[in-house]
Amino acid sequence: MKKPFTTLCIALAAGWVSLVASASAHAQSVLNLYSARHYSTDEALYTNFTKATGIRIQRVDADDAGIISRLGTEGSASPADVVLLVDAARLWKAQVDGLFLPIKSAALETAIPIHLRAKPQTDGSTAWFGFSTRARVVVYDKLKVKPEDIDTYEELGEAKNKGRLCTRSGSHPYNLSLFGSMVEHIGPQKTEAWLRGLVANMARAPKGGDTDQVKAVASGECAVALTNSYYLARLMRSNKPEDKAVIERIGIAFPNQATWGTHVNIAGGAVARHSKNKDAAVKFLEYLASPEAQQYFANGNNEWPAAQGVVLDNPALQAMTGGTPFKSEVIPTSVVGMNQVKVQQMLDRVGYR
Ligand code: FE
Repeated sequence: MKKPFTTLCIALAAGWVSLVASASAHAQSVLNLYSARHYSTDEALYTNFTKATGIRIQRVDADDAGIISRLGTEGSASPADVVLLVDAARLWKAQVDGLFLPIKSAALETAIPIHLRAKPQTDGSTAWFGFSTRARVVVYDKLKVKPEDIDTYEELGEAKNKGRLCTRSGSHPYNLSLFGSMVEHIGPQKTEAWLRGLVANMARAPKGGDTDQVKAVASGECAVALTNSYYLARLMRSNKPEDKAVIERIGIAFPNQATWGTHVNIAGGAVARHSKNKDAAVKFLEYLASPEAQQYFANGNNEWPAAQGVVLDNPALQAMTGGTPFKSEVIPTSVVGMNQVKVQQMLDRVGYR
């Protein structure tokens, strides 16, 4: 009774092999990219990559959460080769969910500083790499606030800033990453006390996105807020009179310049766990780390390049830092993800919605 079953298995296996063979022959020329980035300058990136390699990019656009859940649902049937996400905590989450295929690449390890990529696996491979950086900066009302009262993250939780602070939800990944970095810098106990201070200093309950916080400072509703740098750069580059008025009214501070440096988050990428086209996927990530691609990648969203030695020519970012580079923290980006669960529990305890 066993024989027909074995024969069937061999026949099925043979069919499967020929299917895989034809699939990989086809896969050589197309790379499936799942991207949380939707910036028009990224188009030039893909065109240049295709010109240089003959590999065509097929893109699926969704937000980070959408991509992570889609990869999970598709499992081993997923056509994804490369995944691009826009926050360290989300990259870490996707790694923990087993959605990435850790790789070894001398080119990437040379270009991307060690603190801007995943912690190496035991075999020396890396699950994801950062390709651009954004700073989480303080915005303040120049009419009401002295810059020396808000030039560290710690001061935002002190009594002198009571009734002034506006933020988006505490559980948003951008805040979770900042709070996770605070755990690394000052320890969990002081971080929880600090978070309690932030809640006590709120001008209103957390709501909206980063740009909403900036506008709330400009309108006088709040006096101090947190935002990612690229939202500010967008307002600075806008020609709308209302955006120009916002920039007129606010001051920008890069916190903790005298200590560990301003908190920096990343946008980054990885090879998808079930990629049928791993070599091309690695090639694409290596291309993203090249100086030319770094300009497009970072500039597409007014960010700073992650690759060493690449200097970005972006007038808004230059104006934001007064033309000189700012000091950014150098803790491993992966720890902000690891601290997330701890931070979420603190937020529940202190009532930070
Ligand atoms: Fe954003």
